[in-house]
Amino acid sequence: MIGRNSISFDRRQLLSGAATLAAGSMIGSAAGFAKAPMLGTLAPAFYRFKHGAMEATVISDGPLSFPDAGKIFLRAPDADIRKLLADEFLPTDAVRMEQNILVLNTGDKLVMFDTGLYSMKPNPTLPSGRILKSLAEAGIKPEDIDAIVLTHPHIDHAGGIMSADGKTRLFPNAQIFTTEADFNFWTDEKRIGTPAESSRNTVLKNLVPNKDRLVMVKDGQEILPGIQAVASHGHTVGHMSYMISSGGKSLCFTGDIAHHSILLRRPKMAISFDTDAEAASASRIRMCDMLSSQKIPAMIFHLPWPGIGNIVKDGEGFRFMPVPMHPA
Ligand SMILES: [Zn+2]
Repeated sequence: MIGRNSISFDRRQLLSGAATLAAGSMIGSAAGFAKAPMLGTLAPAFYRFKHGAMEATVISDGPLSFPDAGKIFLRAPDADIRKLLADEFLPTDAVRMEQNILVLNTGDKLVMFDTGLYSMKPNPTLPSGRILKSLAEAGIKPEDIDAIVLTHPHIDHAGGIMSADGKTRLFPNAQIFTTEADFNFWTDEKRIGTPAESSRNTVLKNLVPNKDRLVMVKDGQEILPGIQAVASHGHTVGHMSYMISSGGKSLCFTGDIAHHSILLRRPKMAISFDTDAEAASASRIRMCDMLSSQKIPAMIFHLPWPGIGNIVKDGEGFRFMPVPMHPA
């Protein structure tokens, strides 16, 4: 009964609000107030915050879109996948993923984690490939970047190292951190003619010309002061996450331990881009258990902008609780 009363009360309030609005707009038009034009412009695609003594800036390479959820999410019945999406008020057909890139000023080095697709974009109509524009909006000069740290060299993480024609380094002063396992896997001729070929092409175009600038990362290694590699293999054979520590605070740039919140809800599911779905799922569960039990916030590359939040254990899986953004 209480519930019913509160619903009808809310409805009355809504209706009286609507009546006030209608009256207001009539007065407005009678007095001849100008109608504001629709602007269609968005805020610059960067978000800046302090992390201990470091300054972090999230920039965007723009969204990715996949036409059919049933084709990319695996290891669950189709109806379950659609329901998981519907339960989160998301479309049940096309799936949108962000490309959240982290640029970290450690006080000593300017470090960029992953690059997005840039020119490697498979769908020219999508507003992705905007990494250089986003960096400019954030006031970051490409030549000031000292290090590009890759979680893995898939097309949407390593596509922005070289210019579109493959001849010029976009970040002329950057060393590039990746793993030997990933480099060897993605340059292997066995990838030719498979769905993995686009990422092989990404590596041939973006990493191979930079062979003299590659740093091969090992699990547990402190690759730069305050930045430690944490193996999270499976999505690719050498996939790495990075723990960033400063002033007693930690933040984990996880890369692709989960591409979507529904993979956190059902961590045993898989995504079609996994090299080894079983190992990817085990890494997802291990990383999420570690981050949730130690209450370490994560930055997840493909989650809704800017992708920073806490992971909380919930039933068979996890929930992502976004960290509130501070717009001022
Ligand atoms: Zn990815």
